[in-house]
Amino acid sequence: MIEVLESGMLAQGPRVAALEDAFTHMTGARHAIATSSGTTGLHLALLAHGIGPGDEVITSPFTFIASVNAILFTGATPVFADIEEASFNIDPERLEAAITPRTKAVMPVHLYGQACDMDEISAIARKHGVILLEDAAQAVGATYRGRHVGTFGTAVFSLYATKNVMSGEGGMITTDDDHVADMARLLRNHGMRNRYEYEMLGYNFRLTDVLAAIGLAQMGRMEEAMRRRRSNASYLNAHLRGVRTPVVKANRDHVWHQYTIALPPGTDRQDAIHHLGEHGIGTGVFYPRSAHRFPHVYDVTGELDLPVTDRVAASVLSLPVHPLLEPSDLERIAAAVNSL
Ligand SMILES: *Cc1c(COP(=O)(O)O)cnc(C)c1O
Repeated sequence: MIEVLESGMLAQGPRVAALEDAFTHMTGARHAIATSSGTTGLHLALLAHGIGPGDEVITSPFTFIASVNAILFTGATPVFADIEEASFNIDPERLEAAITPRTKAVMPVHLYGQACDMDEISAIARKHGVILLEDAAQAVGATYRGRHVGTFGTAVFSLYATKNVMSGEGGMITTDDDHVADMARLLRNHGMRNRYEYEMLGYNFRLTDVLAAIGLAQMGRMEEAMRRRRSNASYLNAHLRGVRTPVVKANRDHVWHQYTIALPPGTDRQDAIHHLGEHGIGTGVFYPRSAHRFPHVYDVTGELDLPVTDRVAASVLSLPVHPLLEPSDLERIAAAVNSL
C-alpha cells in the first residue's frame, strides 16, 4: 500500500494488472478486466456484448438493485424469472419460460455466494443462442462441479467493502471471449486504445492502483477466510432450530457471503431482529423488497406477479457468518435464534 503511494502511480497501473492476473489465475477465465465497481462492471459487460435498447435480459428479481440497474443503463429491458424457494436463486425452468425472440442475454445472480444451477442455465443459453452473463458479485471463490463461477459465460465480481474479497470499491469482469474483453477494456477508458484517439463513446470505469493493492492483499487471505466462513455456516446449520437454514444444492461450494435463514410463517421479522439485537447479534435483510417492486423498475417492466420472491423477501434474515466469529459467538447466535 505504502509502496503504491510512494510509487506515484495512483491511477490504473501495475497493481490493477496484477489483480487482473490474480483473477484469471483463480477462476481459470482467459481475461479479467478490473472496473471501478461491480455496478460499472455489469454495465460494461452488457455494453461489451452489444446489449442495448430493444433487447431483453432475463435476471433474478431477488437481488441487489445494481443487477437490474445495469440492464436499465444500457436501455435494454430487464425481464424477471422467479426464484427457487430453497436456494434463493433463479429457477431455470422459469428462466427458460421467460425467453422471447427479443431475449439477448440471461443473467443469473449467484446470491449469497452460492452458484446457480449452471448446467441447466448453460444448456438453456446454448439452446436459445443467448448470451450468458453471471452476476458473481457475491460469489468470489464459489464453484460449480469444481469449476469457478465466472467461467460459464462473461461474469462480474464486486470488490465492494462488504464483499468477501474487497478493495473498498471495485469490480472485475471475467470472460473467455477475446472480443468482449477488448470492448470492455476500450469502453472502460473513454473508447481509447491509443492516447486521445477515441474509437467510440466510452466511459471512465477504471480501478485505481491504490484500491487494487487492497484487493491483492485480500486475495492472499481469501482461502483462510473462506474456510472460516464455511465452518461457521456448518455450525449454524447443525445447531439452529425452528427456522429454515440455508440449503446448499448438490455439486457446488457455497462461499457464504451471507448466511440467510427463512423465518417460519407468522414470525414477525422486526420482533426477531429486535430479539437478536438484545443478545448483541447484528442481522441484515438482503433484500426486504424485490427489484420489481420499485417504481423505476416497474415503470419499465409493468406490474409483475413473482410470488416466490415476494414471500422470500418477507421472511429472510441474514445472521453473522464472518471469519472473526469465535466459538462463543456462534453458541450465542444459536441460543438466541433457538429462543425466538
Ligand atoms: C454488490 C453487488 C453488486 C454491485 O457491486 P458494487 O461493487 O457495489 O457496485 C451487483 N450485484 C450484486 C448481486 C451485488 O451483491
